[in-house]
Amino acid sequence: MTAKILDGNAAARHIRGQLRERVDALKARGVTPGLAVIVAGDNPASKVYVSNKAKACAEAGLHSEVHAIDGGSPERAVLTTLEKLNRDPRIHGIIVQLPLPRGLNAERIMQSIAVEKDVDGFNWRNLGALVGGHPSFSPCTPLGVMELLDRAGAALEGRHAVVVGRSNIVGKPLALMLIARGATVTVCNSKTPDLGGVTRRADILVAAAGKPGLIDAAMVKPGAVVIDVGINRLPQGGIVGDVEFASVKEVASLITPVPGGVGPMTVAMLIANTVTAAERAVTSRAA
Ligand code: NDP
Repeated sequence: MTAKILDGNAAARHIRGQLRERVDALKARGVTPGLAVIVAGDNPASKVYVSNKAKACAEAGLHSEVHAIDGGSPERAVLTTLEKLNRDPRIHGIIVQLPLPRGLNAERIMQSIAVEKDVDGFNWRNLGALVGGHPSFSPCTPLGVMELLDRAGAALEGRHAVVVGRSNIVGKPLALMLIARGATVTVCNSKTPDLGGVTRRADILVAAAGKPGLIDAAMVKPGAVVIDVGINRLPQGGIVGDVEFASVKEVASLITPVPGGVGPMTVAMLIANTVTAAERAVTSRAA
């Protein structure tokens, strides 16, 4: 079997096109959805992600602005910028690009984003509400994974989903979303014994560990849906996921590539959350 490849670029383009209509409706009411991105330090990968996000915003008709903060600045500089953006009516969504430089407390910073502008969904109030199934905003990467699964028509209810990785931004929220859809979910981490024994039982396998080549063909059940969230930069240049794409695509039924799979979907979901935030701001202003 050779798997069908899930094209995240095409899906993201389609989503941006659909969002364009909502953006136009907002503009007709005098509101341009605005996203502010705070970047602290000079991580080269962060710069690439931020410029991708700015480009996607422009394509969907959003206003975006980048607030670069010197990596050597104290945490206060980030918090002061956040306070300003929380009050800025032109800004509907705020994200802080991760990873933050050493010495900055990511948790405190994330919790300082106003919950109604927290379009990355990392505020504890949003993550906590996900447990109950009604967050204001959900994290974009897990949302993008769910959107790809839905667009591919992958059945979730009654299926065994295995998520490799338990971070607060990918693994855990994705597990909650899969649980909400009726999947039986196993979440693995770096201490999981016999990882292959667990992943081989997955109808839906999501790799989000940040370890190149972690999942090989022998670890995949024939016909499984394989979603590769990993982004690993190779020393010789280029990026790969956590899944050995060439061999696993001969075993899986559906598979995402890296690049061009989950990555563009993450950005599309960020735009979608920002448009939603702007729509809510308009509604609450009118109320
Ligand atoms: P973290 O480093 O926060 O978490 C990685 C998780 O993977 C941890 O729970 C860790 O376990 C687990 N893990 C690591 N090694 C193994 C292993 N050998 N076996 C099983 N589990 C393992 O990473 P993130 O969740 O932030 O990101 C994961 C990957 O996804 C990265 O490559 C990142 O770049 C990528 N990413 C991609 C995005 C996209 O848009 N496509 C967006 C966000 C992230 P433990 O908890 O025990 O340490």
